[in-house]
Amino acid sequence: MIPVVVGLGSNIDPERHLAAALRRLRNHPDLGVVATSRIYRSKPVGAPGTPDFLNAAVLVRTDLSPPELRRVLRGIEADLGRIRGPDPNAPRTIDLDLLLHGDLVEDFGGWEVPDPNLARHPHVALPAADVAPELRHPIEGTTLEELARRLDDGSVIPMGVSTNPDPFEAADFDDVRDYAAPVIEGSIRSLLAELGEDPKREGLRRTPLRVAKALEFLTSGYDATVAEVVNDAVFDAEGAEEMVLVKNIEYYSLCEHHLLPFFGKAAVAYLPKGKIIGLSKIARIVDVFARRLQVQERLTNQIADALTEILDPHGVAVVIEGRHLCMMMRGVQKQDSAMVTSAMRGTFKEDARTRSEFLDLVRD
Ligand code: ZN
Repeated sequence: MIPVVVGLGSNIDPERHLAAALRRLRNHPDLGVVATSRIYRSKPVGAPGTPDFLNAAVLVRTDLSPPELRRVLRGIEADLGRIRGPDPNAPRTIDLDLLLHGDLVEDFGGWEVPDPNLARHPHVALPAADVAPELRHPIEGTTLEELARRLDDGSVIPMGVSTNPDPFEAADFDDVRDYAAPVIEGSIRSLLAELGEDPKREGLRRTPLRVAKALEFLTSGYDATVAEVVNDAVFDAEGAEEMVLVKNIEYYSLCEHHLLPFFGKAAVAYLPKGKIIGLSKIARIVDVFARRLQVQERLTNQIADALTEILDPHGVAVVIEGRHLCMMMRGVQKQDSAMVTSAMRGTFKEDARTRSEFLDLVRD
């Protein structure tokens, strides 16, 4: 596969938009993100008075042609609220530019590969050099590292992988070329130091990266929507009136008070009113809400409300049992006890017989 460098830039709520764009690039089925740059702060070019930009770059491996890849990038931009207007200097939520596509040199009519800005601006060249220092610019003939050094006029500042002054210069970690979420990694590095650890020791060098990736997965529910997950798996079922119950749905979540895991099993039931949903989708809906910072009560209610909204059934019941490490590890709670929460909607709330039928089935 051909090495491809994509540049990212944002000056509207840039931390959030860069992180969201990185997640979408990482999760895209046709792209393999191999490396992510540090984040750089730069002054807007030709637009004094507008907010500073944050810039980054990723090295991806892909089989997509440049036009196909460009369509993917435009799609992510549109998702993140980018509107391409006539003013090229207008503030933007996110810019995704195809900077370099192997050694291809081509004019696609209105845009070119490599992106001319790569050999022009330090805010483009420096992040690119982070992810692919050895890669050669097919027109300039130099490596990206040499190109970045030539353009570097001190105006573009690497954020030391953190918005706070980072006691550990990113340069100390230059052999770690993969930055999943630079701001989170910088924070974890500072946290390790605060705990009295040496973030540079062998076992910890890649820990910030691992933690960032783990957190990205454990909070991936923020990027998922119930509609996406359900994806048309709601079916008409005239006359289906019997209770549908799925139990023993394993879930893992993070308590929002301590950022420690709580986990256990969920049981979800509904009484259809003409519409049913694929059973596997119920577990996926649980994950959408579990993979966020949570409290168990809210998790329970969100699942019940989501099903109510999708199916408009006669009723929905959710019971969740959870073991909270924040309590178990600190000995606040007996080690073997679980917290149980429930949410009843419609018939399950109003009719004691339906409710106890459900509770009996869950207990079995
Ligand atoms: Zn907690």
